[in-house]
Amino acid sequence: MKYRINPQNHKELSALGFGCMRFNRDEKEVEKQIIYAIENGVNYFDTAYIYPNSEVILGRVLSKGYRDRVNIATKMPPHAIKKYEDFDKIFLTELERLQTDYIDYYLIHMLPDTTVWNRLIKLGINEWIEDKKKKGQIRNIGFSYHGGRDEFIQLVDIYPWEFCLLQYNYLDENRQAGKEGIKYAASKGLPVMVMEPLRGGKLVTNLPKEAESVWNNAYVKRSPAEWAFRWLWNQPEITVVLSGMNSMEMIKENIKVASETEVNAFTEEDFKLFGKVREILDKTIKVPCTGCNYCMPCPKGVDIPTCFSCYNDMEIEGKLASIGKYVMQTGIKNQPHNASLCVKCKKCESHCPQHIKISEELTQVSKSMEGFYYKPLRFFIKRFMKFDQ
Ligand code: SF4
Ligand code: SF4
Repeated sequence: MKYRINPQNHKELSALGFGCMRFNRDEKEVEKQIIYAIENGVNYFDTAYIYPNSEVILGRVLSKGYRDRVNIATKMPPHAIKKYEDFDKIFLTELERLQTDYIDYYLIHMLPDTTVWNRLIKLGINEWIEDKKKKGQIRNIGFSYHGGRDEFIQLVDIYPWEFCLLQYNYLDENRQAGKEGIKYAASKGLPVMVMEPLRGGKLVTNLPKEAESVWNNAYVKRSPAEWAFRWLWNQPEITVVLSGMNSMEMIKENIKVASETEVNAFTEEDFKLFGKVREILDKTIKVPCTGCNYCMPCPKGVDIPTCFSCYNDMEIEGKLASIGKYVMQTGIKNQPHNASLCVKCKKCESHCPQHIKISEELTQVSKSMEGFYYKPLRFFIKRFMKFDQ
């Protein structure tokens, strides 16, 4: 196993982290898998309060003599916090489930923007974190994130975080927080943990034939998953890459790759291969938006790159998943940012280096993503997650 140094505390973290969101259904098998991973160098396990039964199973296995050999990362759901006492209520439940008295890496789960963070501040999160750190119950505090680059940068700057976790893979180099977001976080000294290295498996299972043949004809035989992991581990800014592993075969393959890769090892030839695959995948997308943000801000508040990113994801991730993401990313914040807010003033269009007819495309986005379900879904999520407070 290769290890990366956490720049904050200089401790070693395994380049491969075990994502515990979807464990194998057979708990005995899960135990074997976790122990195998630990024995082969994995020392970072990522779970969350809201992953069904995940903390309990992880805690049960680690209690058999493995707790001190690993770092546990788990998360607090901000929508469940309505008063100061809720911080402890959730955190102490997590300690109990995990059979431990401290959490190595504790995250605010899916922190969407500074509005939600400010709501938590009003409820006393600063004092609460200070107290937990003083007692040694939280070793490192961070946040996980799924939105666009600008808000990510604002969140990085809003608090002295000790790490962050975000979606990143070779297809998302210029989407969501993207490479610029990662470089920004790293430049602030944050260890960057990465999730969705295979885009929920889509970079492996749903690859167009043409893209598959690029990998099959490459100068060296590697699976599409191996290429995707190597692309991430090539980057010095990345500390841990999480993989939701639920079969021994997958665990063995990922550990093998994680044990071989070096930072900055890619050659021109490697980058060219990724260029070709990306070009093929980009052809399947509807709007050639690179997420550069030059068109922003829109006077009506439309989050143009996020609207296009969710719309494009329909081809890769399916309609249901991308609509869910669209509602989460454009509809639940303090101010909505969805496509139908566009009044077609076209002020944004002259700034777009891709010459996208933004207002026309946004009409298509709103037709596809904002059906009759959009408003009720938005209302329900906002209420449930308390994003309107
Ligand atoms: S055309 Fe639409 S998206 Fe562009 S600036 Fe005007 S309102 Fe905003
Ligand atoms: S300027 Fe064009 S390419 Fe850049 S984010 Fe806006 S729409 Fe996308």
